[in-house]
Amino acid sequence: MDIGKVVLIYPERDGRIWGKAQGSPYTLMRLASLVPDEIPVEIWDQDLGPLPFDRLGPRDLVGITSKTLSIERARQIAAAVRRRGSTVVVGGTHATLIPEEVTQWADITVVGEAYRTWPQIIRDVANQTANNLYVDQQWSRLDGVACLTDRVLEMVDEHRHYWTPYMEITRGCPRDCHFCTAIQVSGKIMRHRPIDEVIDEIERRRIKRFFLTDDNFGLNFRTHPEYIAKLFEALAKLNLNGWTAQAEMMVGEFPELLALAQRAHLDKLFVGFESVNASNRRDLGGKSKGNVAEYKRIIQAIHRHGIGVVGLFVLGLDGDTIDVFESTWDFVRESELDAVSFTIMTPYPGTELRREYEEHGRLLPNVPWSLYDTAHVVFRPAQMTVEQLRRGYDWICRQAYHPASIASRGWRALRRQPLRQYRRRMFSSFSTDMGYRKTVSYRETSVGNR
Ligand code: SF4
Repeated sequence: MDIGKVVLIYPERDGRIWGKAQGSPYTLMRLASLVPDEIPVEIWDQDLGPLPFDRLGPRDLVGITSKTLSIERARQIAAAVRRRGSTVVVGGTHATLIPEEVTQWADITVVGEAYRTWPQIIRDVANQTANNLYVDQQWSRLDGVACLTDRVLEMVDEHRHYWTPYMEITRGCPRDCHFCTAIQVSGKIMRHRPIDEVIDEIERRRIKRFFLTDDNFGLNFRTHPEYIAKLFEALAKLNLNGWTAQAEMMVGEFPELLALAQRAHLDKLFVGFESVNASNRRDLGGKSKGNVAEYKRIIQAIHRHGIGVVGLFVLGLDGDTIDVFESTWDFVRESELDAVSFTIMTPYPGTELRREYEEHGRLLPNVPWSLYDTAHVVFRPAQMTVEQLRRGYDWICRQAYHPASIASRGWRALRRQPLRQYRRRMFSSFSTDMGYRKTVSYRETSVGNR
């Protein structure tokens, strides 16, 4: 059968702010770039508007990517697509973590990276020989894989529709945190894109800012310093307003690389401090140890190079009592962090953490996947009640994302920059906290709080 067109769908996430969605559909852009030129391809992002199902027909192939929290929405989309007679492929985090659930309702389920399986699926569907499950966990080298094509860039028109372009430079993480899904989705082998391909992509997308989706970009400071130094030297030559990446706190131990990062226009590092509670050590996976004096030293070390620090904290770890909310908030206020994110510990399917909770009867019954958004309590905490964790989380979010609190962190971040940088850094000094504020309030109103 000839495939009529390929449509890739991103289920609704955080809605829009002033007409634009938050982040570009980067994974789908890369998968769309693997579709052969002779087959028309489209990306439909539900954050940008209703999905035009009436444009689908029996010869169309529809791919849906979904995280755990949006899988129910993905399932509804799949049902609507199948009513039009099109073939539905579902991939992404949830399909990778728990494929046996997705195979119940998708025509084709994709486990792992789709760089190799997606072109195969297109061929198999065209030849009417497709299977219902494709598994790829060989962790392809990233050289030349799924480079964004011009037709995809024109179709998505990132500048018009999205606030933040996403980007990937490295992939994988060799650590083994027992709550983490990234290692199953992206693998434990750290892989790197060739630097010339990265630079080429930035230039062709004409982006001045980007958010790196790499799970643990900062770990490369220790494991691949030569690659990182060359990457920063290449980025320094571009006219960028700034970019952000995720890192462990140990990046503060590499002043030479931080100096290069500053010249490479690195704006902010999202650092997983995880907890201010030293009794959570076992849960922190060796990345941080709940030592707040050490955290402050690292924040200062990063600030010394003009780079902002967004602190990431997890609440509800087994060592946490109800005191954790106030002690975390005290630390945030004293620490000079530029922005802050709080999440509730969440036992995602396929993780060691979930197996432990299941074994000890700690998962709350009948919780829909849509509440697995790290803003809801889906398990019984060890040293407080479900209600105490929920209220504590709501309390700390109200403190942190109060407009006065956002303004004070934003101005402080801006004042650390030389005057000539103010215009360039104005947006980014406030945008991270504003984004978190929007996400928290969107989730409260869209799915209700528990
Ligand atoms: S360091 Fe981060 S990405 Fe790596 S396993 Fe731990 S949580 Fe996952």
